[in-house]
Amino acid sequence: MAKVKLSAMMEEKQLLSFEVFPPKTDKGMENLPGTIDKLCEFKPEYISCTYGAGGTNVGKNMDVCKMIQNAGTTPVTHFTCIGNTREGIKEQLQGYLDNGIDHMLALRGDLPFGWTGTGGDFKYATDLVAYVRKEFGDKIEIAVAGSPEGHISCRSLDADIAVLKQKQDNGADYIMTQLCWDMEQFRYWLDAIRCAGITMPVDVGIMPILDQAATINMALSRNGCVMPRELCEIISKNWIFPNPFDKEPFDAAVDQKKADFKKAGIEYTINQIDEYRAIGVNGIHLYALNKWKDVTDIINESGIRTLV
Ligand code: FAD
Repeated sequence: MAKVKLSAMMEEKQLLSFEVFPPKTDKGMENLPGTIDKLCEFKPEYISCTYGAGGTNVGKNMDVCKMIQNAGTTPVTHFTCIGNTREGIKEQLQGYLDNGIDHMLALRGDLPFGWTGTGGDFKYATDLVAYVRKEFGDKIEIAVAGSPEGHISCRSLDADIAVLKQKQDNGADYIMTQLCWDMEQFRYWLDAIRCAGITMPVDVGIMPILDQAATINMALSRNGCVMPRELCEIISKNWIFPNPFDKEPFDAAVDQKKADFKKAGIEYTINQIDEYRAIGVNGIHLYALNKWKDVTDIINESGIRTLV
């Protein structure tokens, strides 16, 4: 059995966790242990590490998981079906287990640009969950993705919820959600999944709003997330001309706008954390974006580690 059962802990209290990603550069990798140490000052119950599409950073993913372990908390590796055969999955997961990493987030994975399928033996996360349970029993704790607004390519929200139920039936332990700023939709989804017999704890993914381009990109490049009026206003009021994606904007107020956007974004993020905590979700999973300073402000100002 996995040494720490996060899903069982979530039944007892609301957890705090972070998500990091393997940096592309050597310098980034050198700096990451310092970032993880800073995040660990908040005593998160776990830190997860993303897994690159097409296996582009798989080696680094393992290194990052080891950094998390060395910093004294539980690593959760994201893991996808992209380009992975049954045998390859077995081998890789055994490698994680041999290194004491026994928690995973089982995903289909983002399809690399231009691909129409996973290019591996499994088409969907449900298949991966069933396979891992069959091959490894309860040695690995399995989290799965849930999309409160429905996954962008689902037939309908109902169909997506049926898939989530299948993940539970196939042996998944808890849900990590896609970001969702539409709180009314989130409440609807939470009720709907419970009505559908999904009892898994819900760990809510929250992306700190720090950068205009990154916020728009995360919402719209893949996920089709609704941006509430208040968030749109923050973006519009601080719009960097000609647009936030331009590498050399002609807007003379660019630095001030970036700072103002971040200040308003942090406030927005804190309010969102309050709302999710009040709903009584089982965990707050902050996409730390490898930035400990801004995350520190959010954690301290939200009282998430002191208001307990
Ligand atoms: P699935 O649950 O397999 O669903 C994919 C689509 O297919 C959905 O529309 C679903 O409704 C539909 N579907 C599923 N099963 C069936 C079926 N049997 N028949 C018909 N339709 C079906 N991506 C990465 O590449 N690396 C990461 O590290 C990563 N981390 C993430 C972390 C979190 C918290 C979340 C929420 C997402 C993350 N992703 C990551 C993105 C994720 O891989 C994508 O959202 C991907 O497009 C779908 O993955 P899934 O596991 O939700 O897929």
